[in-house]
Amino acid sequence: MEKKKIEEVFSILNKTWPDAKCELEHNNHFQLLIAVVLSAQATDKSVNKALNPLYTQYPQFSAQDLVKMGEEKFLNTIRSIGLAPTKAKNCLKLANMLQENFDGKVPLNRTDLEQLPGVGRKTANVILNVLCGMPTMAVDTHVERVSQRIGLVPATKNRLEIEEGLLKALPKKYAIKAHHLLIFQGRYHCTARNPKCETCPIEHLCLKRGVVTH
Ligand code: SF4
Repeated sequence: MEKKKIEEVFSILNKTWPDAKCELEHNNHFQLLIAVVLSAQATDKSVNKALNPLYTQYPQFSAQDLVKMGEEKFLNTIRSIGLAPTKAKNCLKLANMLQENFDGKVPLNRTDLEQLPGVGRKTANVILNVLCGMPTMAVDTHVERVSQRIGLVPATKNRLEIEEGLLKALPKKYAIKAHHLLIFQGRYHCTARNPKCETCPIEHLCLKRGVVTH
């Protein structure tokens, strides 16, 4: 897609979703990190719902608190989230590693983040974007689907290629917010099934690649 059109796409998305931001509730860096780990193959809504009672009781719940709490109790808290046993294990390992190697704090650089259990490139991208305002692009299911439907990147299943393609194509002005704009567009408008093309503000620019119309 031409640069001018991409600029227009993001300008419209920015007006459509002025409040686009990370929807995982958190009061500190550690809470965001475990929320992102827990959100793999689960919705942000389900993660917020599971963690909400814990954070109401302990607003500054930390790595140290999780280590003290232990795996079994934490697993009971997050049981409603998909893949809970594996995620609980990873969160405990992660909290222990933060305690041992990082004084209980979340490291804010890619190399250290990606060494933490359950933390991959996508999670590191979210943390660096949300906590450090870095222009990273975490490619989740929404970003993958929407960016290819619109035609911002070529059709591919390779998420690293999508990430690199988007970072290259994005207007600098929207580099930090673009990830949230694409997620909001995918979550609330360009849904996996039955995207609302007929009322879409970028319909005139979109390739609608792979969209099935009846
Ligand atoms: S026109 Fe349709 S496919 Fe394109 S972004 Fe809008 S809802 Fe998605």
